[in-house]
Amino acid sequence: MYTLRGILQDAQARGEAVGHFNISDLVLLKAVLGAARELSAPVVVGLSEGEREFVGTSQIGALVKSLREEFDFPIFLNADHTHSLAKGIEAAKAGFDAIVFDLSALPFEENVRQTKQAVEALKAINPSMMVEGEIGDIGTGSEIHDSSPDLSKGLSTPEEAKQFVESTGVDILAPAVGNMHGMLRSMVKGETKKRLDLERIAAIKQASGVFLTLHGGSGTDDDDLRRAIAAGINIVHINTELRVAWRRGLEQGLAKMPDEVVPYKILPPAVEAVKQVVLSRLRLFNEKRRAA
Ligand SMILES: [Zn+2]
Repeated sequence: MYTLRGILQDAQARGEAVGHFNISDLVLLKAVLGAARELSAPVVVGLSEGEREFVGTSQIGALVKSLREEFDFPIFLNADHTHSLAKGIEAAKAGFDAIVFDLSALPFEENVRQTKQAVEALKAINPSMMVEGEIGDIGTGSEIHDSSPDLSKGLSTPEEAKQFVESTGVDILAPAVGNMHGMLRSMVKGETKKRLDLERIAAIKQASGVFLTLHGGSGTDDDDLRRAIAAGINIVHINTELRVAWRRGLEQGLAKMPDEVVPYKILPPAVEAVKQVVLSRLRLFNEKRRAA
């Protein structure tokens, strides 16, 4: 049986990262699973509180479980950016493999105190559930932004990473290392790229000793992503790039068939557009194994 912890350990040993892709409908889920199976690359699908509200928390739990079993494939489910213990418990009971318990907007001490409580409560429900904590500021909203927020003051330090991990018992840490949620318009057009603080990633990895997640991976320079994985990033989140592809694919489907009303005839271009993005990202994250 596949476990997320085992998959992360294997990927880390090979110098690879596991791709995490957000979904909020069947188009996105089909595209992510299709790409992952085509490359035989393990994958995590994530749903934020808003995405879970739209899809249904226990429903997506049942769906991903059935896909994992039917295809005997390592697809895992993450409760992305969960801001309350009640929502976390809901996800744990629905069979989620992991949770991002995100109180990064609170003062550090309060974040530590409540995250520690959440780790204990969630592991009491499912001991193998992996809990991720977040420190620093990486902005909010996997959307298209007009201007870049000033993230320089919210960067994580190796000292606070170590203290946070030791005091809370989280399995995974999401640091702020130059990454941010969402994309600028110039990034959507491909004119600019996000750049990462690679030295900070390496220092945080060494100080914390846990799995690290890079949030807000959309629009990041490919070479920075490679070097971030080499420096200790284990999971890379991609959401906005999928949303952009979803919309473009949907518009294409609608434009191609102006009189069509059958969803499964209109939607394939959207599935295909998202799948191409997932393929491109998984090829990059799993380069080591593919070369071997
Ligand atoms: Zn995120």
